[in-house]
Amino acid sequence: MKVVLLAGGVGGARFTRGLRDLGRAEDLGLDLTVVVNTGDDLWLDALRVCPDLDTVMYTLGGVIGEQGWGRADESSRVTAELHAYGLGWDWFTLGDLDLGTHLARTELLRSGLPLSAVTARLCERWRPGATLLPMSDDEVETWVEVEADGDVTTIHFEEWWVRHRAALPARRFVQRGVAGARPAPGVLEAVAEADLVLLPPSNPVVSIGTILGVPGIRDAVRGAAAPVVGVSPIIGGAPVRGMADACLTAIGVETAARTVAEHYGARSAGGMLDGWLVDDTDAADVHAIREAGIEARALPLLMSDQAATAAIARAALDLGRELAASRTRR
Ligand code: GDP
Ligand code: CA
Repeated sequence: MKVVLLAGGVGGARFTRGLRDLGRAEDLGLDLTVVVNTGDDLWLDALRVCPDLDTVMYTLGGVIGEQGWGRADESSRVTAELHAYGLGWDWFTLGDLDLGTHLARTELLRSGLPLSAVTARLCERWRPGATLLPMSDDEVETWVEVEADGDVTTIHFEEWWVRHRAALPARRFVQRGVAGARPAPGVLEAVAEADLVLLPPSNPVVSIGTILGVPGIRDAVRGAAAPVVGVSPIIGGAPVRGMADACLTAIGVETAARTVAEHYGARSAGGMLDGWLVDDTDAADVHAIREAGIEARALPLLMSDQAATAAIARAALDLGRELAASRTRR
């Protein structure tokens, strides 16, 4: 069964790991392709850093740091050296092992390889058990228009997220470079050939929203032959980790499982969702989501451990199969 996921960092990575492990444990024959957001990418100290690609690669490779990014068991001696020279960014720590990845990536990019080929090369080492595709080989960066002390300025998404903890109210997000960006090789093909398209519990605005903003990808998902099933990143009116509420507020969407589903929209009404999983806490919204044309189910959605994550992944597969079967019957 070919499954395509559109993923950001931590939420997307943990869900994908759970799905991969379930597929292995039960011999489900899953063939996974993860289309990863690259809008968070940035040039830092002359290195190309791809936060979401690395989080997915390290998580699936079993070497992710406990905090959900960077590598397990690494130090930050190189960053400390940079700081001693008055260089580097004091709000963004790059661990020493992680820096190895950024050096390798930058060297491969400089040799002329596109990001998709570089990612494939890095994944040869980590064997993620899934094909990782950047959403685009073209540089697309999310910048945030903020108002500080009465002035409007635009800062890189990572600066807003990490340095300001998304506390500076965002006026809007600007995806620099997106208009001319093309989907990376294999992205549209994977969506077209998929048996199931999944939106894991990733940030709907700056992770999945950014991927869908690459010309061609939204239409490919809307037109996919496969069912499209999403998992809510919002539980009980709040994000589980991080500050996705600040992103939703900026685009005028209330932070709730139902409103995020409506934001994606029902495929039957020109949107992209056929199915949506909400947490038990939000079970009262299931009816309204169905009324909006999206089949919904409520179950525990906290990815607290392997078993909990596997149960969510199973529910997403089951809903996808049901939707596919009901479509064939029609
Ligand atoms: P980022 O790029 O690291 O911010 O990661 P993603 O965009 O992939 O995912 C961020 C989203 O994952 C946030 O909105 C969180 O609410 C959501 N999330 C994180 N952990 C969980 C979880 O255990 N369950 C659910 N349902 N959502 C989660
Ligand atoms: Ca991210």
